[in-house]
Amino acid sequence: MENNHSAVWKKCLDIIRDNIGDPKSFKTWFEPIKPLHLDKGVLTIQVPSQFFYEWLEEHYIDLLKKVIKRELGTGGRLQYSIVMDTTDSFQVKAQSGNRKALDNPFIKIPITDDSVRMDPWIRAGMQMKAKVNSNLNFKYTFDNFIEGECNRLARSAGYAIAEDPGKTSFNPLFLHSPTGLGKTHLMHAIGIQTKENFPDKTVLYVSGEQFTQQFVEASKNHEKNDFAHFYQSIDVLLIDDVHKLAGRSGTQDQLFHIFNYLHQNGKQIILASDKSPVDLGDIEARLLSRFKWGLATDLEAPNVPTRIEILKNKIKNNGEIDIPNDVIEYIAYSISANVRELEGVLNSILAQSILNKRTITLDLARDMIDKFVRSSAKEVSIDYIKNIVCDYFQITVDEINSRTRKREIVQARQLAMYFSKKHTKYSLANIGMQCGNKDHATVLHAYRTVSDLLDTDKQFKVYVEDIEKKIKVNN
Ligand code: ADP
Ligand code: MG
Repeated sequence: MENNHSAVWKKCLDIIRDNIGDPKSFKTWFEPIKPLHLDKGVLTIQVPSQFFYEWLEEHYIDLLKKVIKRELGTGGRLQYSIVMDTTDSFQVKAQSGNRKALDNPFIKIPITDDSVRMDPWIRAGMQMKAKVNSNLNFKYTFDNFIEGECNRLARSAGYAIAEDPGKTSFNPLFLHSPTGLGKTHLMHAIGIQTKENFPDKTVLYVSGEQFTQQFVEASKNHEKNDFAHFYQSIDVLLIDDVHKLAGRSGTQDQLFHIFNYLHQNGKQIILASDKSPVDLGDIEARLLSRFKWGLATDLEAPNVPTRIEILKNKIKNNGEIDIPNDVIEYIAYSISANVRELEGVLNSILAQSILNKRTITLDLARDMIDKFVRSSAKEVSIDYIKNIVCDYFQITVDEINSRTRKREIVQARQLAMYFSKKHTKYSLANIGMQCGNKDHATVLHAYRTVSDLLDTDKQFKVYVEDIEKKIKVNN
């Protein structure tokens, strides 16, 4: 019976092969698996890495459960033994379908004691495993990151990186945009795709905040060197929200050194921020200059067709629910600035339909949009500002959007531009586009004119302060 495990696994593989349409996937994810032993209905298989194990559990769990049940009966279990590499070998006893076990650090059993290097970042609660747990969110793949004009360059650069990390000219890749336009999603997608292409590469996703906290903690414990070494061991480092490092000179200094080390060694760095490198105040010049070495590109708000596609994709992923096309279009036309809001509205409509058994109609959509937009009005939109300015001067939004050069309209338009620049994160070009289709130079000129008038014209200053109050009060 010595070979029993091999025989059983071989039968499992036959079924798996038949069930997976794509031979490449079978080759990638099942051929490297070695059956180790079979004991009391528990089949132990060896997988090459933590990531590999997570991928199997994420994508093939149902199939694995089915074949185990078929070959070993209902009491059958699957157990993984995870080999990190020859220097850091760990065995993870995690039973199939029990992903939660991953969060428990005590399921790791060192195979040989002296090969175990306790990583300080495990203690820091960063979920770093012996080598590294990538911290990736499997929901955010390339597959469900809809491509549009708004993200084409960033998306294809990201895709190219995953094909050849560290070797493209996009190093670093610096993604920037206002919130909710897909930076975090894209970063995870790049990480996941890289791992799929190169299971042995160490990928790490970390937020600027986590990075800072870890560094502060390490400094307190005199472990700065360990911190640096740890980060220098990463092949693909993704740091999200780097603007959170503003004003943190110690952390920036550390990142500067890590950056140089990784870059020199052909490792890939990907950064995301809510501002472009040019607008990142409070980040040291030498670090900023590094950020600009590769490709800095922004993600824009998606246009209507892309918004529709994003909505349809989310609906499809949600299962059986049917949403009429006119409702989808209505949502897409109503929510323009932010994909997160688009999702929020869709989710509340789905919830209403599932929980309260309401039929999905235009009225329901209107209701939800009203509620949602009101409750998330924290972020001021240009439309909102234009409405307040128009209200104040008793003119119409159409007049602001028109090409008229009537003095009072020009002034209102300039004020709308001024407040948009002041209160939103939109680029000058975008503000111009939304205020009468002007170019960025016009917006800049408006901003300067208003600032100058504020210093010289008392009556004008009163207007500006009044409007400012209204923007704040209503928000
Ligand atoms: P950011 O990091 O720029 O603030 P996120 O990546 O968190 O934005 O995106 C917000 C939400 O919008 C996420 O749930 C994400 O999945 C979704 N999203 C953004 N862009 C797209 C896209 N192009 N296709 C599908 N979903 C998207
Ligand atoms: Mg983000």
